Amino acid sequence: MTNGNVIEYTPLDQIPKIVEDLRASFATGITRNVEFRKQQLMKLFDMINDNKEILADCLKADLNMTKGEAYASNIEPAMYEIGYMLENMDQWLKPTYPSLAHQPSYMGGDICIQKVPQGVVFLISPWNYPVRLTLIPLIGAIASGNVALVKQSELSVNTTSVISRLLKEYMDERVVRIVNGGAEETTVLLDQRADHLFYTGSGAIGKIVAAAAAKNLCKTTLELGGKCPAAVFGVKSKDSLEVIARRIIWGKFYNCGQTCVGVDYVLVEKSICDNLVSELLNAVNEFYGSNPINSPDFGRIINKRQFSRLVGLLSKSKGTINTYNNDKLVSGTSTELNLNSDFGCDEGNLFVPPTIVTNVQPGDSLLSGELFGPILPVVAVDDVQSAIDFINSMDYPLALYSFNEDVDQAKLVGECTRSGSFVVNDTMIHTACHSIPFGGFGPSGLGSYFGLASIETFTHGKSTMIGRLNYPPKNLDSLRFPPYSGSENEW
Ligand code: NAD
Repeated sequence: MTNGNVIEYTPLDQIPKIVEDLRASFATGITRNVEFRKQQLMKLFDMINDNKEILADCLKADLNMTKGEAYASNIEPAMYEIGYMLENMDQWLKPTYPSLAHQPSYMGGDICIQKVPQGVVFLISPWNYPVRLTLIPLIGAIASGNVALVKQSELSVNTTSVISRLLKEYMDERVVRIVNGGAEETTVLLDQRADHLFYTGSGAIGKIVAAAAAKNLCKTTLELGGKCPAAVFGVKSKDSLEVIARRIIWGKFYNCGQTCVGVDYVLVEKSICDNLVSELLNAVNEFYGSNPINSPDFGRIINKRQFSRLVGLLSKSKGTINTYNNDKLVSGTSTELNLNSDFGCDEGNLFVPPTIVTNVQPGDSLLSGELFGPILPVVAVDDVQSAIDFINSMDYPLALYSFNEDVDQAKLVGECTRSGSFVVNDTMIHTACHSIPFGGFGPSGLGSYFGLASIETFTHGKSTMIGRLNYPPKNLDSLRFPPYSGSENEW
C-alpha cells in the first residue's frame, strides 16, 4: 500500500553536487557550535512530535505495523534518544585528559583527547524499522557536529517519502540533505568521498559499502544482520517455560519477524523440547489468535520478493510446520500440506502466518541464512555444549539469547560464543536501553551507536598536545636536536 506517497528519486547527476554542498557547509564551521547542534536536535524532535500520527500511518502502510509497535519501536526511541543526547552531550563531548604520568617530564605540554566532528557522514538505512534506523544515527551524527546525507530505503515507500519531506521542511539544509533511490543512486553516492559511511542493512550490501569505504579510506560503521539464536536449557518449571515461550514468540514475530535482533531459531535440550513447543504454540494463539490473518497485531512481509523467498524456504524444509489457520492448529510437512490453502500463506496480502517448525535437523533450508520473516525453526540438541558448538559453527550473530533457570549456566553460553550482544532470559528488550552500545560483531556488524556510543562513533578522538614556547629551557630542548654525534645525546 502506498497511501499516495511516492519517493522522488534523486537524479543521478545531482548527487555529486549535493555532497559538495554539504562539504562546503561543513567547511564554514557552522556545526562547530554545540548550541547550533542542539537547536538542530530540537528541530528534529519537533519534526517527529508534530508528525507522530503520520509516521505511524506510514509504518502501517509499509509494514502493517500496529500503532503500538510503531510508537514503541520507532517513534518513541528516536524521541527518547534526542532527549538523552541533549541531556548528556555537553558532558560526552568534553575532551578527556589522560594521566600525565607517562609523559616525559621535559615535554611539559598539556595533553587531551578532543572529540571533534568528522565531516560529511552518509547514513544509509533499511526498510524494516525505517524511522528509528534513519533518525537515531542522524541524532548521533548531528550531536557530534557533522553534516549528514540521508539515504533511506526505497522499499519502505511511505515512510521514506514522508521522512524526506519532513527533513527538508524542519532541518537546516546546510546540515541535512537527502538522496533517494535504489541501488543505482546508492552506487553513485558511494562513489563520492564521505568522511564516514554508516550503513544499516544486509551483509551482502554491507560488503559493497565497505569496499567503497576502502576506496576512499573513510571510517565505516556497518549495522548488519544474522541468525540470532535463543538457547533454552535447565528449565524445570512450567511457569518458567511459559515465560520463556512468550518472550521468544514476542522476539520472533514482532514486526512479522523482520527484525535484525529478532529470534531466528531456537536450540533447546531434547528433554524439554516438546513442552517448550507446546508453550510456544500457546503463546502464538494467545498473541495472534487461531486465525492470525485477522489479527490487528500481526504484520506483513515488505514485498512479493521477500514473500516468495520465505515460502520457498518453507517448501524446502524437511521439518514439521505448525501454525494456526481457520481456527485450528495445522501441522505437517511441506509435502503433506499446501502452503496456500492449508497453511494460509497469501501472496496478495503479503501474509505468511506465524510458523513454528519442529523436527528441524542441521542442514535444513531454514538453518542457513537469516530468515527475516515469521518462521521459527526449533532444533532439539543433547546438551548445552552441543548448542554452543552449533552456534560457533555459524556466523557471529547480532544478538544471542540464553534462557536458563540458573543464570550462571545461562551466562556460560555467552562466555563460550561470540555475538554483537548477549541477553539472559529475555529477547530484544536490550535494544530499548540507550546506555549500552548497539552493534554487531564480524559478519553481524562493525562498530556501534546509541547515546555515548554514537558520540564515540561519529566524532574523531583527536590526540592533542598544547606545548609552550618557553619550556623546556633551551639546554633541555636541545637534547632532541642534531647533531647527535659527539654530544651528550649520543646513544
Ligand atoms: P534494504 O534493501 O532496504 O537495503 C539497505 C540499504 O541499502 C537501502 O538504503 C538500499 O537502498 C541500499 N541498497 C540496496 N541495494 C544496494 C546496492 N546494490 N548498493 C548500495 N546500496 C544498496 O534493506 P535490507 O538490506 O533488505 O535490510 C535487511 C537486512 O538488514 C537484514 O539482514 C537485517 O538483519 C539487517 N538489519 C540490521 C540492523 C542492525 O541494526 N544491525 C537493523 C535492521 C536491519
